Amino acid sequence: MSELHKAIQRTQMASDMSQAYFNQPLTVCYSGGRDSEVLVEIAKISKVPFIIQHSHTTIDAPQTVHHVRKQFARWENEGYKCRIDYPPQSFWQLLGRKTTPPTRQIRYCCEEQKEFANKNKVLLTGVRWDESSKRKNNRGIYESNAVKREKRIILMNDNDDRQQLTNRCMQLNLTTVNPIIDWSDKLRDDFISDLKIECNPLYCMGFKRCGCVGCPMASKQQRYFEFEMFPKYKALYMKGFQRMLDYRNYREKQGLSHYKMRFKTANDIWMFFMEEMQIFGQYTMEELWGEVI
Ligand code: SF4
Repeated sequence: MSELHKAIQRTQMASDMSQAYFNQPLTVCYSGGRDSEVLVEIAKISKVPFIIQHSHTTIDAPQTVHHVRKQFARWENEGYKCRIDYPPQSFWQLLGRKTTPPTRQIRYCCEEQKEFANKNKVLLTGVRWDESSKRKNNRGIYESNAVKREKRIILMNDNDDRQQLTNRCMQLNLTTVNPIIDWSDKLRDDFISDLKIECNPLYCMGFKRCGCVGCPMASKQQRYFEFEMFPKYKALYMKGFQRMLDYRNYREKQGLSHYKMRFKTANDIWMFFMEEMQIFGQYTMEELWGEVI
């Protein structure tokens, strides 16, 4: 069976789960990147009912915001349902309510800016094993997520016991299906070229990914490149980090619990955020942050 046929079968299975357990169309998560362009086309080819959903994180590049709007206008004209979810606060406001910047381990921004709208749904996402070795080890074709790690179910093979997964759908609030998980970069790019899909203009500017500007999950090299291309975003991060310090000082003055935040300036936080830890070489993580609030 070709990769495309497998992707279609998985999408149809996801749609069946969405209808059976949540009584609603499948949610196709669209980020504005190449993988999600493929995902939308596969949903169309699969002829299942679906809605295309995008989370406006407030730290996407302007090109991504424009591209999403353009694609959504096109798909709505074709008769497909599209929805943009807006978080209750901007990412910059969120920084002022926390005492640590987001890191690879502490991704509170994903939860508050992206995932808040996707409870009680079956989601179709464009995760692929080729993206990183971590994804190769941790992500599966079908995933039933639970707060407790030991209760999560991840199926890596189409022949695994899907009944196990579907039985859990009713108990858990989020099920994810990744139909192109085993697609190579080449297969994805050939598909895009064959279907003449218009992609995010960021790729023509040298970007390898189109996620949030400065996302801690991206490589250090990529993040420096992004801040070079979008220096105003760096300025916004610095303002956000200053708010973070102000918030910590406010808590201290009010006699509220606060943690051992030993950064003195917004620039100290910036260096930590950019993984330039050598300036804090004498500190341990525990010394830097007692706990996240
Ligand atoms: S910056 Fe990264 S971790 Fe934060 S919301 Fe965006 S994708 Fe998620």
